Amino acid sequence: MTYAAAVLRRCDELAAFTEEEGRLTRRYATPALWQAGETVREWMEAAGIEVRRDAIGNLIGRLGDGDRRTLLVGSHLDTVRDAGRYDGVLGVLVAIACAERLRDDGRSLPYTLEVLAFADEEGVRYGTGYLGSSVVAGCFDTADLERRDAGGVKLADAVRAFGGDPDGLAGDRREPADLIGYYEVHIEQGPVLEGDGVPLGVVTAIAGQTGGRIVFTGEAGHAGTVPMALRRDALGAAAEFVTALETVARERDGVVATVGSVGVEPGARNVIPGRVVLSVDVRHASDPVRDAVLAGLRKRAGAIADARGVGLEWQVGTGTRAVDTSAALADKVAEAVAASGHPVVRLPSGAGHDAVMLSRIAPIAMLFVRCAGGVSHNPGESVTVEDVAAAIDATTRFLELVG
Ligand SMILES: [Zn+2]
Repeated sequence: MTYAAAVLRRCDELAAFTEEEGRLTRRYATPALWQAGETVREWMEAAGIEVRRDAIGNLIGRLGDGDRRTLLVGSHLDTVRDAGRYDGVLGVLVAIACAERLRDDGRSLPYTLEVLAFADEEGVRYGTGYLGSSVVAGCFDTADLERRDAGGVKLADAVRAFGGDPDGLAGDRREPADLIGYYEVHIEQGPVLEGDGVPLGVVTAIAGQTGGRIVFTGEAGHAGTVPMALRRDALGAAAEFVTALETVARERDGVVATVGSVGVEPGARNVIPGRVVLSVDVRHASDPVRDAVLAGLRKRAGAIADARGVGLEWQVGTGTRAVDTSAALADKVAEAVAASGHPVVRLPSGAGHDAVMLSRIAPIAMLFVRCAGGVSHNPGESVTVEDVAAAIDATTRFLELVG
């Protein structure tokens, strides 16, 4: 069987480790995640990789000996609810396949390769993402140990139940001086590569994102008796804002802006909406562009509120900053993609990844793999064996170019 076919078969095997019958859900520190990790551990060991778990439960596979500098390669094993089988898992399994291929070809790398399988990236159980990679990057916030999941279980207790050590998290930070970089293969989660008709993409940056909420406060009233001219309808203002947001986002290339939830109060057919709470999510690979868009949106929201005589609360924070991938490593990824016979397409990532955390301690690089329809966080996620083969080939070449 080819390496790519084996990777796809393993993705299927891991999809069986789920918390919920009939659909794939694998959150941090659950038995399903543990079993998936132990299965990955067996594959790593069979590939000649030495494996341990760190204090939060990340799997760390080490190939190579001595004190040579280290290239970290990995992704995450946890999933969202009702997930697809490739988000995260694919990056871990491609890394293992590359180690197998190097071994089978009798080739070795002039540095230490570590394959990382992070225990939490999606943040579904504790409402905070990147638990696994933040430990490796040394930016885990210990205040988060007090967080509780929906069932009341404290994160500190979940770490212990998962065989980890809440007091040992700080000690697992990696020393930047030892690291060559961090490289991650991931499904694109967007439709750009499919649109371009290419299997692989070289990631230029990971978009910064700002999220928050906006509240319009008008006046509730009887839907039958208050004349139109006298109304202060909070939903009317919110509706105007949603369309304004689309217009503002479309004015600049690459900006994505979304209102994903709307809460209307009181929320009855015969009552004029008195208060509306909107979520807002704005992303772009350049922080100044994102900041300018947010400033523009705030101005529009203020103008809409003034014109309608409704109140506005703008509760939008600073968000996370955009992260550029290393130009030097990205050029090597591009060289590897070209050497495997595929066109080089460079693109930013609109989704966050473990690489965001790792960028704090090492130069980062990412390779995207085309996925059908750009679908992710959905059981409909799909990749082809040819595209996975291309990712394995390009990644193997990249590993050799880095040395
Ligand atoms: Zn992911």
